[in-house]
Amino acid sequence: MQNLSTTRSVILTLIQFLLCFLFFFPLVSEAQSSSPIIRIKILEGKKSITAGAAAGSYQIESESGKIRSYSSSTSPQRIEATSSGIKIDSILWGKQIWIKSKESDFLSLVNGKKYRGSLLVKQKEDFLEVINELSLEEYLYGVIEEEVPSDWPLEVLCAQAIVARTYALEKIGRLERLAEDQDYSLSSTTDDQVYGGVKSETRQARLAVDLTQGKVVTYQGELIKAFYHNCCGGYTVSSGDVWGGEDFPYLRVGPDEFCKESPYYKWEWEIKISDLRNILIKEGFSVGKIYRLEVLSRTQDLSFEEGGRVAKLRIYYKGGELDLTGKEFRELIMQQIGKSLLRSTLFKVTRWAKREASYFRFEGRGSGHGVGMCQWGAKKMAEEGKSFKEILEFYYPGTEIEKHY
Ligand SMILES: [Zn+2]
Repeated sequence: MQNLSTTRSVILTLIQFLLCFLFFFPLVSEAQSSSPIIRIKILEGKKSITAGAAAGSYQIESESGKIRSYSSSTSPQRIEATSSGIKIDSILWGKQIWIKSKESDFLSLVNGKKYRGSLLVKQKEDFLEVINELSLEEYLYGVIEEEVPSDWPLEVLCAQAIVARTYALEKIGRLERLAEDQDYSLSSTTDDQVYGGVKSETRQARLAVDLTQGKVVTYQGELIKAFYHNCCGGYTVSSGDVWGGEDFPYLRVGPDEFCKESPYYKWEWEIKISDLRNILIKEGFSVGKIYRLEVLSRTQDLSFEEGGRVAKLRIYYKGGELDLTGKEFRELIMQQIGKSLLRSTLFKVTRWAKREASYFRFEGRGSGHGVGMCQWGAKKMAEEGKSFKEILEFYYPGTEIEKHY
C-alpha cells in the first residue's frame, strides 16, 4: 500500500510538473517576448509620397475593406492626396490606407526609406501623414544610433536603450490615461526621440536593445519621465527649472564631473547685433536698434560658474525692452539660424566690437536641456568601468531597473 501510494504521488507530481511545463512556461516566455506595438509618426505635410515594400510581398487595404496584393518585385506605389481622398494608380481609396504584410521579413518603404512593420497612410485635409506601426523593441533599434554613436561603450548604449524604452512607454501610458484620440504615440523627431528606421540601425544598437529587452526605469513602481540630453556642461538641472511645472525627485540635480571630455563642454558663439535684430523682427517682435543684452535671472539663483542656466534675459533696444526666457531665446535662435549654435541655456553674454560691426558673444557650457541623463557623462562613467545600472542610478537617483515584459 505504502509503495502504491508513493508511486501514485510521484506520478501525480510528474503530471503536475508536465502541466506546469506545458502551460506555464509557454505563457512566461510569451509574456517576456511580447513587446507592445506602437505607432510613430514618420512623415506629414506631403501632397504625395511613394510607398511599398523594400522586402517581401504586401497588401494595400482601405478602411472599407478594399484590398490589393503586390509581389515583392513591385516598385513602390505613388500615393496622392486629392480632393476626393487618397489616390493610387487612378483609383480612390478613401481617407486612410494600410500597407502591411504577413511575411516576417517584410520591410516597408516610404520615399526611399526603409522601416520595419506596417504603414498607416492618412489624408489630413490636403496632405498625407504616414504612421509606422511596429513593436517597441524594433522601434528602439532605429533610435539608439540617432542618440548615441554606436562606437561608444556598450554599457552607454544599454543605458540609452533602457531610457529610450522608458520614455516611450511612459508617454504611451500617459496618452492612454488621458484617453487622447491620437493616431500615433510618438513623433520621430526631437519632439520625442529621433527615429530613423532601418538606416539608423547598427549591430551594436540592436545588441544593446536585445540585451536589455523589456527593461525600464521605475520610481516607487511607476515608470519615470526618462529625460536625457547630450551634455549637461557640468551641472544637471531640474525639469521644473527648464520647463516650469513639476519637479521629480528622481531627476538628479547637481554637479556632474563626468562630461568634461565632451566637445560641447565649453563652446562659444557670436552673432552680429544687427543680425539678431533681423531675427527678432522676422519672429514678429518690432524692435529698434539693439544696444544691450542682459541676463536678468538664472536657475536657482546660481551663477554661470555654479551651473545657473539663463532663466530670463532682457534685450534693450532703441525705444524699449524685450524680455524672453532663456528657453524662448534659444528656441528662437535654433529655429531661425541653426540647432548647433546656442547649444544650451547655460551661457553668459558679452558685447564687443570687431572692425565696423558690434557683436554679442555667448560663452556657454553643455548641449541640450540638462535634465536627466547626460550622455557624455554616461560615456565617461562606462569608460571608467561603471555598468548601465550604476549609470542610471547616478542620473536617476532612487530608481530601480525593472523588467516590464
Ligand atoms: Zn554632464
